[in-house]
Amino acid sequence: MQQSVFEHMQQMGHEQLVFCHDPYSGLNAIIAIHNTTLGPALGGTRLWNYNSHEEAVIDSLRLSRGMTYKAAISGLNLGGGKAVIIGNAADIKSEGLWRRYGKFVNSLNGKYITAEDVNTSARDMEYISLETDFVTGVPEYMGGSGDPSPFTAYGVFMGMKASAKKMWGSDNLSGKKVLVQGVGHVGQYLVGHLVEEGAKVYISDINETKIKETLEKYRAVEVVGGSKIFDMEMDIYAPCALGATVNSESISKMKCAIIAGAANNQLADETVHGPMLIEKGILYAPDFLINAGGLVNVSAELEGYNRERVMSNVEKIYERTLEIYATSEKEKVHTQLAAMHMAEKRIQAIASVKSRL
Ligand code: NAD
Repeated sequence: MQQSVFEHMQQMGHEQLVFCHDPYSGLNAIIAIHNTTLGPALGGTRLWNYNSHEEAVIDSLRLSRGMTYKAAISGLNLGGGKAVIIGNAADIKSEGLWRRYGKFVNSLNGKYITAEDVNTSARDMEYISLETDFVTGVPEYMGGSGDPSPFTAYGVFMGMKASAKKMWGSDNLSGKKVLVQGVGHVGQYLVGHLVEEGAKVYISDINETKIKETLEKYRAVEVVGGSKIFDMEMDIYAPCALGATVNSESISKMKCAIIAGAANNQLADETVHGPMLIEKGILYAPDFLINAGGLVNVSAELEGYNRERVMSNVEKIYERTLEIYATSEKEKVHTQLAAMHMAEKRIQAIASVKSRL
């Protein structure tokens, strides 16, 4: 790591970074709290086999910052936080680990509220909830909202349709070639919406089981090998795996009109790749804007869950995406920056409300 942890925190504007270690359960976790101006920091817990501890720290910092923007732009009274647990999901998951982690979450007294993310499930949240109330995304049979992925996928679908409207004048995706990279929780639901709309769907995943599952549900989809995805012509690229897939190398190859997907932090470096996409004429739907459906869903648990209200809030992603495209043109900034400005404006406005009697 070239910069120190504190330099990273300062650069990205973080409030707090908490390290959790438990030798008995093998837990090594990092909870990153970016900004709590709007409310407690809500964000999922990612379980990932990071190559290094530095990589895990950076991921927690980047992801939690994204959550601040996501909550702010979605009109939620929540701050941004995220946690990562270092390890191999197939080996380390246990009741003891989740309950110990629940205790760590509890020790922050509600400043951080957790939920699911990559490799963590509603069942895992159930164990965490035995040790803390500061957890969302618990199963429906426990009064929670369950898996947030269908809501995330629906929001991404809304953002994708709004992007089509902007690019082609119609939001109908029928006949459009869409590549969904990563057919996990969110990706599979997204494929469902696209197939229903009549899009020509291509899928790619490193996990053969996920490919098989998707093919069994949706026979018309075609599989593309991971190394070939940017060689093919497509209308829409939907990154639904991990972040940073939109980078200098991939952009130079891309033959698509729109990028709209669920993955967090899709742009490897927003200051470089946001403008690069504009130059190439590719419309980029800001990730934290269109993948907010899951956050909207879990946050509803905090105020009394109502599915209809959640769906109507997730649908708003359509109008908000069009608004961002209009602002991006007006302010002559790339779409990610336009979305960040909108989120920052709300945070500043509420901070000023809160600072006065
Ligand atoms: P998931 O783990 O269920 O699915 C991810 C899928 O991507 C897996 O099937 C995995 O095998 C595949 N994958 C990993 N690397 C790949 C690669 N290089 N090429 C192709 N496929 C690859 O995760 P998910 O819950 O579906 O989330 C997907 C993305 O969306 C993540 O970045 C997550 O942070 C983001 N996200 C998820 C939610 C949610 O509600 N689950 C909400 C907001 C954002």
